[in-house]
Amino acid sequence: MVLGHEAIGGVVQEDGGESIRKGDLVMPVNRRGGCGHCLACLNGRPDFCETGGFVEAGIKGMHGFMRETYWDEERYLVRVPRGG
Ligand SMILES: [Zn+2]
Repeated sequence: MVLGHEAIGGVVQEDGGESIRKGDLVMPVNRRGGCGHCLACLNGRPDFCETGGFVEAGIKGMHGFMRETYWDEERYLVRVPRGG
């Protein structure tokens, strides 16, 4: 398993998403999926899953971000404003 559950990176290639653009800084969301049964997951908040039926990048059931590049879905990326 590739470790690394906290990351920040630069977008090097767009994938047709609506808000993420080449050159943006982004942070990937760690927790994905969800059990699909508990109230938190049914409300789209697997980070508050009550059953443990989720994966976490670099921690549980999914490779992390300690690598040169990775691809991710836009819904799992949080754009970080550049300071200025
Ligand atoms: Zn759940």
